Amino acid sequence: MIHFNRPHMTGKETEYIRQAVLDGKISGNGEFTHRCQDYLAQRYGFGKCLLTTSGTDALEMAAILTGVGPGDEVIVPSYTFVSTALAFIRCGATVVFADSRADEPNLDAAQLEALVTPRTRVIVPVHYAGCACDMDAIQAVADRHGLLIVEDAAQAIDSFHVGAGGTRRALGSIGALGCFSFHETKNIISGEGGMLAINDPRLFRRAEIIWEKGTNRAEFFRGAVNKYGWVDIGSSFLPTEIVSAFLWAQLEHLDEIQAERKRLWQRYWDFLSGLDLPAHGISLPRIPAYATNNAHMFYLLFPDLARRSDFIAQMKARDILTVFHYLPLHSSEFYRARHDGRALPNCDRYADTLVRLPLYCGLAPDQDTVLAAIREVCGLAPRQAAEKGQRAASTALGGQ
Ligand SMILES: *Cc1c(COP(=O)(O)O)cnc(C)c1O
Repeated sequence: MIHFNRPHMTGKETEYIRQAVLDGKISGNGEFTHRCQDYLAQRYGFGKCLLTTSGTDALEMAAILTGVGPGDEVIVPSYTFVSTALAFIRCGATVVFADSRADEPNLDAAQLEALVTPRTRVIVPVHYAGCACDMDAIQAVADRHGLLIVEDAAQAIDSFHVGAGGTRRALGSIGALGCFSFHETKNIISGEGGMLAINDPRLFRRAEIIWEKGTNRAEFFRGAVNKYGWVDIGSSFLPTEIVSAFLWAQLEHLDEIQAERKRLWQRYWDFLSGLDLPAHGISLPRIPAYATNNAHMFYLLFPDLARRSDFIAQMKARDILTVFHYLPLHSSEFYRARHDGRALPNCDRYADTLVRLPLYCGLAPDQDTVLAAIREVCGLAPRQAAEKGQRAASTALGGQ
């Protein structure tokens, strides 16, 4: 059986967990937590980092920090994980769902401004597959209307946005807040786990208080105050040192993990782009010029639901697991009665046609089996014939 995902261990996880246990400090906000937070803040230029127990918790902290409540509107793509929307719903805000782009699953920035009303407070770009949203366009809308940006960068560790002047900024460092996940299906893992990046210094202090159950205990531990107490709302968002110790073992090997994932991604790309996918209406991921690829995911887009279902079934019959992804949130059982009725056709299309291929460290020996199966299941021939045709055509046109 070739799985869709397998958690990858770097080797030192149990050693660091053992160390945390022997140190006798296993609650949160200890040495391993600080190491992870400092490393990530420095490496990616985040203002301040706080580890959380999940990506969902990072989003919940972010939603609290934006201060939204009943009557406020938050723009969220419909093609995303439940937690992106749920965090804001729990604050009493109204979620206004945005459609995806026609050419890739990220939210369509060109349609964004039409969704802004006097009640809009926050935009939540989700960097799907670790591929940047059009942040210059989103930022322009946010600036014009005084909106906060909260990036759902759950899949986007080690990925960047390349701005107009060529400036590279890490995803999660662009909005006021950036939310990451270290769930075992992501590139860097701790089982369950996450992180909030706080980039607006005005939110630093409150973020720490919300993280520590509404108390100023973190300041107390730093010696900044001589007693701590209840100062705000909050919850227990911080992970145990056992989880942070695991995460540190992963972060020490971040570059190797990324290099291996990128090799696997590239192998998919090189092989599949040499086949006549277009003749079968199948397409490959598109990475815009302003985005980088962190090899979080490799997906195919089928022409319709029936052909995708058939593909998944036939791959499964060959013991290879490929999986579809999100169901549209705007038409979910929970939200459809509250949705404003707009059709979101691109979101619906990705929900029906996108399929993710196996991608994890350790896949290499089995990747050719996956590729051969895709070729066979889809009845793909090499692209040669089509290319020859194209070349002939371009020669006829003057041959660029
Ligand atoms: C994984 C994911 C989350 C949730 O993260 P958890 O750590 O599983 O809570 C949220 N948003 C997106 C886009 C994700 O991919």
